Amino acid sequence: MTFRATILTLYPEMFPGPLGHSLAGRALREDRWALETVQIRDFATDKHRSVDDTPAGGGAGMVLRADVLAAAVDSVADDRPVLAMTPRGRPLTQPRVREIAAGPGVTVLCGRFEGFDERLFEARGIEQVSIGDYILSGGEMGALVLLDACVRLLPGVMGAASSGVEESFESGLLEYPQYTRPAEWEGRTIPEVLRSGDHAKIAKWRHARACEDTRSRRPDLWERHEGVRVGRPLARGDD
Ligand code: SAH
Repeated sequence: MTFRATILTLYPEMFPGPLGHSLAGRALREDRWALETVQIRDFATDKHRSVDDTPAGGGAGMVLRADVLAAAVDSVADDRPVLAMTPRGRPLTQPRVREIAAGPGVTVLCGRFEGFDERLFEARGIEQVSIGDYILSGGEMGALVLLDACVRLLPGVMGAASSGVEESFESGLLEYPQYTRPAEWEGRTIPEVLRSGDHAKIAKWRHARACEDTRSRRPDLWERHEGVRVGRPLARGDD
């Protein structure tokens, strides 16, 4: 079964963009996943083909209309989850990416301007997703981020099958730091243990560094990791 991505956007020419290159691009050409875009404007009904209108209650900018967006969503209705890119959504995490990648695919709605008419989400059972606590000018970059994260997990896409397992976040920790040749560069050396050939010692060092770096760089992740380890119930919104 091929993973199918459908992107609803005002800028279909932005796809596949970066996903046409490297691992994702090769996988696309090998039909390991499929990409389709839908022009939201094709579902406008007035003679100006408008997709947006001024915000109810006043304020700057324009809001994407629920009726036009719903018609676009309905045109692709199937068994795949429908996600909308919005900074008001639930932050995207590796566990959610894994779930999506394990399914039949995804439909992604890309916002522009001030975003979507809120009524759309409940009316169509749309999952609201954020890619981080900053504001983009449109959802297209978010959709590319989501798809890149999913596609690299599809069977046969990543060369060494194991390289996804130890990655940052997969264990709830950041990955340990990596090094490669030359052994000495600008007077800096690779940690001695990594050149020892002692695999048990290396594994122990890597785990210790993963813990240390997670604790100092990402206290939020560390707190959650420790909570899971000692069996403390997760706070709401965690998973
Ligand atoms: N006024 C909105 C932001 C609109 S930005 C607000 O403050 O919530 C325009 C579009 O860019 C959004 O509709 C969304 O599709 C996309 N976008 C911006 N930031 C995003 C983020 N962090 N995650 C996902 N999508 C984002």
